[in-house]
Amino acid sequence: MENESTPSTPNFIRSIIESDIEAGRLDRALTTRFPPEPNGYLHIGHAKSICLNFITALDFGGKCNLRFDDTNPEKESIEFQEAIIEDVRWLGFDWGGTTRHASDYFQALYDYAIHLIENDKAYVDSMSADEIRTYRGSLTEAGKASPYRDRPVAENLDLFRRMAAGEFEDGDHVLRAKIDMASPNINLRDPTLYRIRKATHHRTGERWKIYPMYDYTHCISDALEGITHSLCTLEFEDHRPLYDWVLDQLPVPCHPQQIEFARLELNYTITSKRNLSTLVTERHVDGWDDPRMPTIKGMRRRGYTAAALRDFCDRVGVTKKQTTIDASVLENCVRNDLDRCAPRAMAVIRPLKIIIENYPEGVVDELDAANHPKDDSFGSRKLAFTRELYIERDDFIENPPKKFFRLAPGREVRLRYAYLITCERLEHDPNTGELSTVYCTYDPESRGGNAPDGRKVKGTIHWVSARFAKRAKIRLFDRLFDIPNPTAADDFRDHLNPNSVEIVDEALIEPGLADVTPGTHHQFERLGYFCADERLHSAESPVYNRTVTLRDTWEKTKK
Ligand code: ATP
Ligand code: MG
Repeated sequence: MENESTPSTPNFIRSIIESDIEAGRLDRALTTRFPPEPNGYLHIGHAKSICLNFITALDFGGKCNLRFDDTNPEKESIEFQEAIIEDVRWLGFDWGGTTRHASDYFQALYDYAIHLIENDKAYVDSMSADEIRTYRGSLTEAGKASPYRDRPVAENLDLFRRMAAGEFEDGDHVLRAKIDMASPNINLRDPTLYRIRKATHHRTGERWKIYPMYDYTHCISDALEGITHSLCTLEFEDHRPLYDWVLDQLPVPCHPQQIEFARLELNYTITSKRNLSTLVTERHVDGWDDPRMPTIKGMRRRGYTAAALRDFCDRVGVTKKQTTIDASVLENCVRNDLDRCAPRAMAVIRPLKIIIENYPEGVVDELDAANHPKDDSFGSRKLAFTRELYIERDDFIENPPKKFFRLAPGREVRLRYAYLITCERLEHDPNTGELSTVYCTYDPESRGGNAPDGRKVKGTIHWVSARFAKRAKIRLFDRLFDIPNPTAADDFRDHLNPNSVEIVDEALIEPGLADVTPGTHHQFERLGYFCADERLHSAESPVYNRTVTLRDTWEKTKK
């Protein structure tokens, strides 16, 4: 598979790389990595990191590794790992065959830890986690040395080896770096490097009884892979001195440069695996791939395309300044891409029956309809016009205001690709009083949509043939949360939008929309972009998801 690349926009990371190259500081090909922890599914924030790492490497003729940061055996699984691999591929990226894991380096990490101990740069601390926390001090107060800080090297070596051999229980001891308990940077106050965890690891099984911490693992893994630029999010800025400290103590093959950038935050949603996982486990959504989720799987199922996500990541750019992006920016990228690649078709979400009284019963007129108004290569299809049709209920009003140009008593309207029709009379349900059928006449001279006498008909509406249309389930999605920043709320679960999905069972679609491969996109004219659901759609019982509306109507309809 080829890596996909959109034209890249300049950013401060590219400037750093360019000056590194100019100054001759790069002694090997540019190498980046995307390092997910396999403890959940990837979300839109990860997409930004993936695009940044892969596209930057590609543009500078280098490569990007996919490395699983799998140092927390209790929270990680093969299921998550496989989902992540699939998502990175789907986004259009390739890491050259070898998938890497921090766990590939467990032995090397252990040997380096021995090296640190031998050089009196690490010690085994036997205080409890609570004591360690208290001794660490605070932003205003220096930390205090642990009573175990001056343990002799030989004792540290012995204890660490026995920790690794499984002689102790979780929490009995930890291995700490010996740096500076008075450092103004709390990350340098003798951070923990290893802890005991008697857990089964999804790759190394029972082999290890101790597991390395993220800060220790990450820099060494980067160095072992020859990473040149290690791109991470801003919260790791204060960890950079530790990243550099660890590498400076060890005979590692190289010293990668850590560069931090702002996380991607999107309003009306959350981008934290932990919170997304809560939504799934507490069943607020129907799984990680629920089309309302900001996960790559969810967005894909909803009908967002990989090209749209790449375009979005490029547009939001890479900066050091934390901002929140409006959800409409993402939706616009999706519209732009689908406008280009989605064929047009007609469907009626809330049907209202039309009978054309002067049209002969049983006669089918096959009309030509273009599949794409801007691109002839999409070709055309035949639409069957019949005496009984359905139009959208919203396209008819019994007592219309002046500016209403769709169907109403006595009014004339154009049926897309077909004929001009005029509403003659109405029929109401005798029990409910509800409008049940609209009787119309058509102008046989207006085939294709224009009157021969040139009279102006403003409104054009979509329709399907009652005889040929197929029934479909259509799922209309809205934003998952009803406040812009759910993460800032006391409990994001209190702000779930109760109307984030509406399911319509009685929609009608033109027959060609039933027999499509799940995942196929269409624009339903005047309604939006829709995608045949990857899991639920079949020709016998079609299920479509509304990916996005045609225009950004969200702000308007909420006011
Ligand atoms: P989460 O908070 O969702 O659990 P994480 O950072 O713990 O995110 P990882 O699996 O460790 O998740 O992330 C892999 C990579 O993706 C990291 O390099 C991380 O910096 C990056 N990343 C995660 N979230 C975002 C985001 N919102 N914007 C940009 N990059 C992100
Ligand atoms: Mg993380």
